[in-house]
Amino acid sequence: MIGTGYVGLVTGTCFSETGNDVMCVDIDREKIALLNQGKIPIYEPGLDEMIRRNVSEGRLSFATDIGKGVQESLFIFIAVGTPSADDGAADLNSVWAVAREIGKHMNGYKIVVTKSTVPVGTTERVKAIIAGETSHAFDVASNPEFLKEGAAIDDFMKPDRVVCGTEDPRVSELMKELYAPFVRTGNPVLVMDIRSSELTKYAANAMLATRISFMNEMANLCEKLGADVNLVRRGMGSDPRIGSSFLFPGVGYGGSCFPKDVKAIIKFGLEAGYDMKILPMVEEVNMLQKRQLAEKVIAYFKGNVKGKKIALWGLSFKPRTDDMRDAPSLVIIERLLEAGAVIEAFDPVATQETKKIIGDRIGYGMKNYDVLKDADALLVVTEWNEFREPDFEKIRALMKNPVIFDGRNIFDGKKLQEKGFQYFGMGLKQ
Ligand code: NAD
Repeated sequence: MIGTGYVGLVTGTCFSETGNDVMCVDIDREKIALLNQGKIPIYEPGLDEMIRRNVSEGRLSFATDIGKGVQESLFIFIAVGTPSADDGAADLNSVWAVAREIGKHMNGYKIVVTKSTVPVGTTERVKAIIAGETSHAFDVASNPEFLKEGAAIDDFMKPDRVVCGTEDPRVSELMKELYAPFVRTGNPVLVMDIRSSELTKYAANAMLATRISFMNEMANLCEKLGADVNLVRRGMGSDPRIGSSFLFPGVGYGGSCFPKDVKAIIKFGLEAGYDMKILPMVEEVNMLQKRQLAEKVIAYFKGNVKGKKIALWGLSFKPRTDDMRDAPSLVIIERLLEAGAVIEAFDPVATQETKKIIGDRIGYGMKNYDVLKDADALLVVTEWNEFREPDFEKIRALMKNPVIFDGRNIFDGKKLQEKGFQYFGMGLKQ
């Protein structure tokens, strides 16, 4: 497994869990040193224990030596990052570098699999790069990953589907064998051509991002029209053609996938001669939505938040992860700081990651109630479970001004009003 990040570490660990010998390789020496000391560099529920178990059974190891990893393996998964370049395209430099290294170290037949999210045509180019470095026989395949941070182990161990792009029946048989323990309940291993497989991942993420932006627009429209998005959402979602999941409005999508993948598909679509119309709008709606909550707060204080103390609950882009890449909280924080507010934030696990980006320009609490003392407003930015049923009496007693801006609609506005709060959700009837 080359690349030991959120995807590589989970994938490698889960493959070792089913009895395979896995070596996770990374160029980040610090990360590998931590893992070799039994420390886990990311927060992902359940991962610690699974890593420890498989390391102690001798099936899972960590190294910086890509050569050893290549030479000792039949399957080589490329799971390095594919972040956005300045022009929005996926930056594939790590993928190309890894492909060259694989080629240089080949010592026999291998199956090289792109696990990273990569634009259509990447796996073919990986094949060409490796072929330029070696005369050993090998095959390539595309196997995009659909796990969700925060539920990654469960998603990987019980995937809705496994997508496998290959043109070779032997490779598809071996991939099916590798994945057989994960699909025992009958979920499909969908074998298709490599290009369709690569595109499937982007199409799925682009669709999910579209649903989010669509619902955010519905929420904004509800506010203008005096309708309630929670009722509209239920009414829409009961149609099985629409379905009820992923219809929640909020503070915009973030994280390490949706923003970069929407940008990348627009870009490689354009390069292929197809100018997509929907996705640039999905992006634009999202950009506006990330600012919404901060703008609501500023409007509430009639344009003057200078010196106001704003408490934030939640920093990560979603619960159960410490991933801060493209998190909406960063946009909210920057906007409020620019307007002169003083911010105190609490997140159960993402504080360290936030400090790397925001530093000490905001204060950080050790517990959720810590940040509320004398606060002029509380903003709920991430819907961590532990925020859902807090002690509202305590909150009201701590705050200077009991107003809550709930970016995730986790509270019952009516009940809060009865308890003496002013409450603003997303797309709710005031
Ligand atoms: P990440 O940044 O957490 O991890 C990438 C790792 O690759 C890092 O540890 C980095 O040091 C390593 N790396 C970079 N260049 C390398 C090289 N030349 N040799 C060895 N290691 C190298 O990224 P991630 O979140 O795990 O994402 C990896 C890929 O999986 C991306 O394409 C992403 O779009 C995709 N993906 C991510 C998720 C997710 O939820 N994070 C889900 C599905 C798919």
